[in-house]
Amino acid sequence: MSGMQDESSVRVALRIRPQLAKEKIEGCHICTSVTPGEPQVFLGKDKAFTFDYVFDIDSIQEEIYRQCTEKLIEGCFEGYNATVFAYGQTGAGKTYTMGTGFDVNITEEEQGIIPRAVKYLFRLIEEKQQAALEQGLPPPDFKVNAQFLELYNEEILDLFDTTRDIESRNKKSNIKIHEDSNGGIYTVGVTTRNVASEAEMIQCLKLGALSRTTASTQMNVQSSRSHAIFTIHLCQSRVCPKLDTENDLDNRITSESTQINEFETLTAKFHFVDLAGSERLKRTGATGDRAKEGISINCGLLALGNVISALGDKSKKATHVPYRDSKLTRLLQDSLGGNSQTVMIACVSPSDRDFMETLNTLKYANRAR
Ligand code: ADP
Ligand code: MG
Repeated sequence: MSGMQDESSVRVALRIRPQLAKEKIEGCHICTSVTPGEPQVFLGKDKAFTFDYVFDIDSIQEEIYRQCTEKLIEGCFEGYNATVFAYGQTGAGKTYTMGTGFDVNITEEEQGIIPRAVKYLFRLIEEKQQAALEQGLPPPDFKVNAQFLELYNEEILDLFDTTRDIESRNKKSNIKIHEDSNGGIYTVGVTTRNVASEAEMIQCLKLGALSRTTASTQMNVQSSRSHAIFTIHLCQSRVCPKLDTENDLDNRITSESTQINEFETLTAKFHFVDLAGSERLKRTGATGDRAKEGISINCGLLALGNVISALGDKSKKATHVPYRDSKLTRLLQDSLGGNSQTVMIACVSPSDRDFMETLNTLKYANRAR
């Protein structure tokens, strides 16, 4: 883990999706260009931005998953929380990248980050149990559970709650966010699914994603106006790794005879966040209820931007990080900054018609560095 602690706790990736058929047909030009061999992008001729990673239009899902998520899963096994979130305007590829969509006919190559992360998580569990058995140690015990929330208008909806019909969805939910004495954030009133396998987890993800889609349709709102947060909790009980330098010195005499197994419990959570569309209110010409939605959604995105920027600013390390300004940042509080690892994936369209929104996204992402 020491390698990870050397780096900033927030890393920023940019992903440029390919042009969609519609954009090609309508003659849109590509206005982004990536500097070869460098994580730098030009928007138009003269607006240059540098990030930790830049993925150009031909990048594949596997590559993004590997660079942005795999190490964070490994960190969870050492007790470090993690957050990966996708930011950008509607249509920029957030859901595609995260894999929060409800699409059963997707090919394996097209799978997004979450299914890949889930697969790796269960593979590591198996490997760690196998390794312990081979060393003649008691195998570690793992408990995995998942939650799937949607944040809409500063209101928390439970996507795993099948008992809630559409009527009651419109009423205030009873979900509360609390902080324990160690600064850990936990929720009350949220459905928690115990999950024993990769297949079960994927099933949960699909049900939640479907629930998001149908609820949105029936409430006549777009899911692009809400944040979706898929959270995996990992609880591990394992034999303490021995760090006894003393024993190493006179190893021949003591190690075999004094081996007593001590257990430790490590917990970690991983949030996968598919954020609401970042487009400006004025462009969609929102009024009334829509305008209200827009304001609340911006409240989450605004607060997240401020938190990320406060975390990234080394000179302000000691000062206030405004987690309490939105439900989103409150929920993610113990998984952003500090000992936790955060990756922001800024998603953009390459087409010139989206130039201004892409510029806004690049500026937002730039604040995080
Ligand atoms: P968002 O969630 O940001 O609104 P989506 O993920 O729904 O955007 O993407 C919009 C459209 O673009 C979808 O049809 C999606 O399949 C497609 N798309 C997005 N990213 C890619 C990509 N990297 N490769 C191919 N198609 C993509
Ligand atoms: Mg989406």
